[in-house]
Amino acid sequence: MVEAILKQALNTYGLGMQTVMLCEECAELTKASTKLLRNGDSKELVIALTEEMADVLIMIEQMKIAYQIKDIDVEVVMNGKIIRLKETLMKEQKK
Ligand SMILES: [Mg+2]
Repeated sequence: MVEAILKQALNTYGLGMQTVMLCEECAELTKASTKLLRNGDSKELVIALTEEMADVLIMIEQMKIAYQIKDIDVEVVMNGKIIRLKETLMKEQKK
């Protein structure tokens, strides 16, 4: 059901406009993040961050549909990056 709605959004607005929306939602997530840094982590700001995270994830799901990117493909890349992060953290501990 969710995928059908996301496909309908892509068909209705087009990939170009949904890509613009992805950019806008990323910018809103950035703004919510910097507001937390600037003003501390009040419940209201954490709720705002959560909403923007949800918006970005919805747009990411549409990009996955549009470009036929599978969950497993993203997971493989994420796992590689997490391993690299672990290695970086281990180097940090040795300093
Ligand atoms: Mg938003």
